[in-house]
Amino acid sequence: MSDCLFCRMVSGEIAPDVVRETDRTLAFRDVNPQAPTHVLVIPKEHHATVGAVAAADPQLAAELLGAAQAVAEQEGLGTADSPEPGWRLVTNSGPQAGQSVHHVHLHVLGGRGMTWPPG
Ligand code: AMP
Repeated sequence: MSDCLFCRMVSGEIAPDVVRETDRTLAFRDVNPQAPTHVLVIPKEHHATVGAVAAADPQLAAELLGAAQAVAEQEGLGTADSPEPGWRLVTNSGPQAGQSVHHVHLHVLGGRGMTWPPG
């Protein structure tokens, strides 16, 4: 989709600060970080929300989760067996959640203490 910001990153038209890439996923630093580590994980294929990708391609949805874990490990936030110091995974779907880019993305957040619920 030529009007989608994240599709333009996948195509190379815009160059994000890439931290990890696989055949089907891309992870890059958020331009407006909300924590010392704030990385977005996206599928290269366009899907609007996490629900949409889970319905259309469950394997790809699983790959997104695996990519998020791999980024967390790469950033020193914890392994699958030992999530220390820990990290948060967020995905926003729709207007009330504040989704501003309509290409599914997982926010990997860490590097500071976080309260729940978030503001
Ligand atoms: P959301 O509000 O969940 O849709 O998140 C969209 C995220 O994309 C926000 O955290 C933005 O800071 C981030 N963002 C917007 N433009 C860029 C960009 N050019 N490079 C990296 N992150 C971006």
